[in-house]
Order: sequence, then C-alpha cells, then structure tokens
Amino acid sequence: MKVLVLNCGSSSIKYQLINAEDESVLAKGLVERIGIEGSVLTHRPNCDEKVRIEAPIPDHGVGIKLVLNALVDPKHGVIESMNEITAVGHRVAQGGSLFPKSVKIDEKAKEGIKSLFGIAPLHNPPAYLGIEAVEKALPGVPMVAVFDTSFHQTMPPKAYMYSLPYELYEKYSIRRYGFHGTSHKYVAGRAATYLGKPIEDLKIITCHLGNGASITAIDGGKSVDTSMGFTPLAGISMGTRCGDIDPAIVAFLIEHEGLNIKDMDNLLNKKSGLLGISGISNDFRDVEEAADNGNERAKLALEMFVYHVKKFIGSYVSIMNGLDVLVFTAGLGENSPEARLEICKDMDWLGIKIDPEKNKVRGKEADVSHQDSKVKVMVIPTNEELVIARETLEILSK
Ligand code: AMP
Repeated sequence: MKVLVLNCGSSSIKYQLINAEDESVLAKGLVERIGIEGSVLTHRPNCDEKVRIEAPIPDHGVGIKLVLNALVDPKHGVIESMNEITAVGHRVAQGGSLFPKSVKIDEKAKEGIKSLFGIAPLHNPPAYLGIEAVEKALPGVPMVAVFDTSFHQTMPPKAYMYSLPYELYEKYSIRRYGFHGTSHKYVAGRAATYLGKPIEDLKIITCHLGNGASITAIDGGKSVDTSMGFTPLAGISMGTRCGDIDPAIVAFLIEHEGLNIKDMDNLLNKKSGLLGISGISNDFRDVEEAADNGNERAKLALEMFVYHVKKFIGSYVSIMNGLDVLVFTAGLGENSPEARLEICKDMDWLGIKIDPEKNKVRGKEADVSHQDSKVKVMVIPTNEELVIARETLEILSK
C-alpha cells in the first residue's frame, strides 16, 4: 500500500510517496512557483538524486499531474502505474472546531474545509485546490484530510478563549486553535515510546522550533495549551513572524505609518521576527553566523528567541504543575545544540539540565539530559508526513 502525502501552499506543493508496509519514503519533492514565471518541480526518487523538471505550472491541477507523471516516469519514477497509489493524505492547516480529528474527504468534509476559508484565508484555499486537483487526476482514490489544529482541540476553554467580547467568538469563531499539531503529537508519542512509559502518565512540553515555531503543553497525551493562536502568527518570535505583541501596536502603526490591512499583515508575518530584528535573515544559521561575528542586532534577535521559548516553558510547567519531558524538534530544535543549550541554561531550579556532551547531536533521536536532570530533555526529529500517511490509512480502515 502506498500513500501520497500532499502539502499544498499558495504557490507550492510538497509531496512524499510513502510505502505503508515499512513506512519508507519512496520519493519526495516540491513544486514551486505555481502561477509564477519559472515554475519548477524538484523530484527526488528514493530521496537522494534530484531531478529538476521545468515547465509552466499555471495552477495546482497542472502541478499535481506533473507530480504524478514524475512518480510513474520510466526513468525517474518509483511506481509503474498510478493504480499503485492506495490513498492520498492532505495536510490542511485549519480544521477549526469542526474537525477535532482527521477525516475522510467527501462532499461534506470539502464543504467544511471551505467554510473555514474565512479564518484561514492563506492556508485552507490552496489545500482545497489540491484536493480538487487530486479528485480529477486520481478519480476514485480515497483521500483524507489531516489538520494542523486537530491535536489541540483538547485544550480547555480557559486556554483557547481570548479575552474579547464573547459575541465575537460566537460570530467569527475567534479563539486559539494552535498549529503544528501533527508534529507535536508525533514527537510526544516518540518521546513516550523512547522512555518506555505510557504517554497518559507524562507531562511533556514539545518545542517545534523551525522557521515557524510553536510550543505545546501536553498533559497525559493531550494538548492543554499551545503558543500559536487564531493563526500561526502568535506565540514566540519566529523566522519572519512577530509572535505575541501588544495588540495596541497594530492600531498605532496603522495610524502613524499609514499602513493598510495588507501592509500590516505583511509586516507582522513577513518582515518581523529574526529577520525584522537582525535585519539580516530569517534563517537561524545566517543570524547565528552574524552574531558570532559581533553583529549586535543578530545577537539580540537570538537572545529574544531564546527568552521567548524559556518564558513559554516556564508558564507551561506552571499550568501542568510539573514536567517530565522537554522535547526539541524541527529545523532549529533538531540541529542547533547551541540554541538548546541556551534555552535550557539556568533552568535547573525547574529540574531541567542538559548534558553538553550528549547535546552535540544533530537531527537524531536522543536523550540529551544531564544525569542530574529531573526532567528528560530530548531531541526528536519530527515527521509530519509519516503522521499524515498513518492517519490516512487509519481513517480509511474504519
Ligand atoms: P524548518 O522550518 O523546520 O525547516 O526549520 C528551518 C530553520 O531551522 C531555519 O531557520 C534554519 O536556519 C534552522 N536550521 C536548520 N539547520 C540548522 C543548524 N544546523 N543550525 C541552526 N539552525 C538550523
């Protein structure tokens, strides 16, 4: 059984073809610049060699067809026929309160995803386009939608409500939803397995630290709070996103900088975070390099990031009344021993102590806690595509 996992963005399609028998990745790739000049598919059969296919890709439908053709291509394909694709799993960012779980895609599910366009205008429409494109290209192949928000649907109202007039929640469903749910769920599960303990007995904080970053408090296997909010803009400072700021700043800037809604959105989502503070890059490696070379703003950007993560860890320990495991994942969390060391510095009072030697690991599952640490500190590479493939098969087997 082979599952095609798709993650459709506004101008991109990321994909993986996963063999369900051994959970190996048969091929993966990326379609970029959909609807823009210079569109290209980078296809990686068996995940090593790279094949670049340049072609006009005006829409997601053409992009999906190109992906499918690459998968069955006699030279760089990995399957003989499209009939070998058992199912397709779609990553959908926003499931609102409508989708507390992954769902088989039928007309009702499609309507539900569409009804959430209003609260996820950037993320849900491209996922929907991907769903329609697959329907046409692979008629009859079952599809499942896996939502970034589902895992966080266990949060209690006191964690997900904003202190705004209640009618706005009723009218627009404005509340905290949280994102990166598949990642938080996966790494928390792996941590429990690694430690050989039932997840129901553990208090876990998962730090998904990539270009987008979020932190989740997981008590007994359930998300009880998370740093992202109504959108993925909230929480800690990120590559280009501002994270939590005083909301009055928005009105102030609109008035004093003469910004319209689109400019404001762009400033908060694309020009802030590491990039906005350092003025150098949204990439941690570039900012770390500049900081090492004495750039003060780069140093400040990194210090702020670490400070934000520490603040969330502290607050989540307090709401869970303890902590058993602290997990680092995603680009920075998996690959930067320096960032992990800084975040865990001076947290021994909370029982968090990292072992500098064990911490030298990059991109590998590892227990990096000091032998005196009360809390297990772990590095766990995330695998959102695998979670999507697993959930796809699980939903279809029901
Ligand atoms: P992601 O969004 O999960 O792909 O993570 C991307 C972020 O991880 C980028 O900001 C990268 O700079 C950062 N990252 C990846 N590898 C490293 C590394 N070896 N050291 C520091 N940061 C890294």
